[in-house]
Amino acid sequence: MISVEQALDRILGTVSPLPAEKVGILEALGRVLAEDIRAGRDIPPTDNSAMDGYAVRHEDTEGASQRDPVVLEIVEDIPAGVYPEKRIGKGQAARVMTGAPIPPGADAVIRVEDTRREGHGVAVLVRAEAGLDIRRAGEDVRAGELVIPTGTVIRPAEVGMLAALGRSFVAVRQRPLVAILATGDELMEIDENLEPWKIKNSNGYALAAQVRECGAVPMQLGIARDRREDLKDKFLAARRADVILSSGGVSVGEYDLVKDIMGEVGNDMLFWRVAMRPGRPLAFGTLGGKPLFGLPGNPVSSMVSFEQFVRPALLKMMGHRRLFRRTVRATLTESIAKKRGLRYFIRAVVEGGQGGYTVTTTGAQGSGILKSMVRANGLVVLPEEMERAQRGEEVTVQLLDASLDLVE
Ligand code: AMP
Ligand code: MG
Repeated sequence: MISVEQALDRILGTVSPLPAEKVGILEALGRVLAEDIRAGRDIPPTDNSAMDGYAVRHEDTEGASQRDPVVLEIVEDIPAGVYPEKRIGKGQAARVMTGAPIPPGADAVIRVEDTRREGHGVAVLVRAEAGLDIRRAGEDVRAGELVIPTGTVIRPAEVGMLAALGRSFVAVRQRPLVAILATGDELMEIDENLEPWKIKNSNGYALAAQVRECGAVPMQLGIARDRREDLKDKFLAARRADVILSSGGVSVGEYDLVKDIMGEVGNDMLFWRVAMRPGRPLAFGTLGGKPLFGLPGNPVSSMVSFEQFVRPALLKMMGHRRLFRRTVRATLTESIAKKRGLRYFIRAVVEGGQGGYTVTTTGAQGSGILKSMVRANGLVVLPEEMERAQRGEEVTVQLLDASLDLVE
């Protein structure tokens, strides 16, 4: 039996980032950039007006005021998107719309509110400093600048910037295809109605959802029966994926054949059993170079093992540098007994208050009680050496979702 840390080290030491692929920039949302993005040109491309108003030579507005305006001749009308034809000379102005290029000769913009029309001219009611209300060429991005470095996770702002830079496609890390195989003679598919003592294959769906939630691509391979041939066939088929997950059949029971079959199909077993609860009987190895996780069958164990081991591995394969959930320190509202030597992951509800976070378990913690996960927004992590966590004690909690970041 190895520790959670050792298991994680071996897993992360085995997987590496997948190659890049080109995708449309909207498809790149949430994915990891696999190239440096440099600007091909300045943004904005020219000096342009920040206001609807008049482009002027600032020195012409010297002394202008409400009482004593300066009247300038309007030589041109420049809508956004039109390039000016005339140069602004002494005593002249051009009408400009927001975003319109500043005509040569002008060096300031007087906003409409600070002017009055006077026949064919404009009366300027304020004096301007040089540069007033002009957006400079390249003030957002300079030609040649490294704007978004490789390794960045693409958010809407990056999508916008890529569009501004004229990029419709970008290179991002591939998303792993994850084959998911449920095992067990007691299982039926969700829409089957077999004998009343059979149970639905919920792990297949929970795992597929976890895979998708972290950005990878799930492929459900259905249910393998607890028979060597069936397991073997399905594991061999799963090799086409980038990562293989199975659930069940990794304990020490008579029908727990998964470990044996993993060996028979050529799996290089790297460890079996981790000092944790839930999730002790985890098997990990590589099959034809692909990471293979033999997850425990109990629904909570399967999900918690995914959280601790599979998710960081998938994130690493997708090029992410941040592999782990955010943690907070929270005060326990109840005492929890535990066994020394195992790391515990207790399903719990974290709440934020004035005095920091508090955390309460979701009740019965059996590894078959999926409701404990349904109700939880976090996992309390109790270290191996601890024998009892006392009410009022501060503990570390992994946050499973963003509920603490949101307000109503
Ligand atoms: P096993 O490790 O194969 O003995 O599985 C442990 C327990 O987990 C079984 O008795 C089932 O109740 C449950 N289980 C196994 N596989 C699944 C699954 N795919 N969906 C829901 N529960 C499962
Ligand atoms: Mg089983």
